[in-house]
Amino acid sequence: MKLGKVLGTLGLAAAIAVGANAADRTVHWKLAMTWGTSLPPFTDAVHEMANLVKELSGGKFIIRIDSKNKHKSPFGILDMVKLGQYDMGHSASYYWKGKDLATLPFTTMPFGMIAPEQYAWFYYGGGMKLMQKVYAKHKVYSFPGGNTGNQMGGWFRKEINSVNDLKGLKMRIPGFAGEIMSELGVTVTNIAPGELYTSLERGTIDALEWVGPGMDIRMGFHKVAPYYYTGWHEPGTELQFLVNIKKFKKLSPKYQEILKTAMKLSAYDMYIENYHMSAMAWAKIKTDYPNIKIKSFPPSVIAAMKKANEKLLARDEAKNAEFKEVIESQKAYMKKVRAWTKISDYEYLNTTMNIKPAK
Ligand code: CA
Repeated sequence: MKLGKVLGTLGLAAAIAVGANAADRTVHWKLAMTWGTSLPPFTDAVHEMANLVKELSGGKFIIRIDSKNKHKSPFGILDMVKLGQYDMGHSASYYWKGKDLATLPFTTMPFGMIAPEQYAWFYYGGGMKLMQKVYAKHKVYSFPGGNTGNQMGGWFRKEINSVNDLKGLKMRIPGFAGEIMSELGVTVTNIAPGELYTSLERGTIDALEWVGPGMDIRMGFHKVAPYYYTGWHEPGTELQFLVNIKKFKKLSPKYQEILKTAMKLSAYDMYIENYHMSAMAWAKIKTDYPNIKIKSFPPSVIAAMKKANEKLLARDEAKNAEFKEVIESQKAYMKKVRAWTKISDYEYLNTTMNIKPAK
């Protein structure tokens, strides 16, 4: 909404929409999202996108948004868009890992790239091309749909001091991190966002990860599981806009450009909105929620996770050529981009934050 307003204030939407004329057809689309009606910043990204499309098309390209309360199928988005029941969707690519393993790495990978590195890979390092290749067999296009930035490692009832403490835990954790936790003896499950708190409170699960303080605190997880671990598993989670290819091709070139621009802008806006939300929540965490215990997994646990990661990547690369192609592309890109991150941002933080004041 904010971006739409900014564009409106600048008269930009009006200026771009000058191209909208009587010849432009009115188009009505429907979008299904994994989320409930209000789950900022995820749902903000979707509304932002639809508002921009409407404004930039001079009010002629309208996208109706259905939450999971309406379509009742939070993890059915890919199928509904594929079948044309919906023109587009908003979800996360790693939710389809059981259907098509090669879709998994487009969300995030444990020990993988952070958000700016991954955006560079998507837009300039071949990531988008690979993503469209993987999704072509599902008859949909996939676009970046908003990044959460680095995620927290999750909420636990008890402290994790060794790999042994993980054994037998029931945890909600999606994506490749779920595979790793499973390898370490955790019983892994994925649960729709709307049912997370109840599952934790009722003991259906012992632990869960969701996003970060901006989104987690308002869910109330800390009331049940006060140990809050720092991240290792989702360093730059990218959500996803899905678009039915046939429907996209029926749009005029102008509407196609409007849609792509709106998706890209709203994805970026979600990234900075979530950064803001987490920073503001973090600023109050110690005073407002003194029972929360901030922890990092001990080095022995991280080492075991990393070892399992390598083993499982080798296992899955051997059985799925397309998965291998995506992983190898990410690995090769990360090798280069991380060297730059290390000498730029990492070194900046290292040299400026750890210095003793001059006498
Ligand atoms: Ca997560």
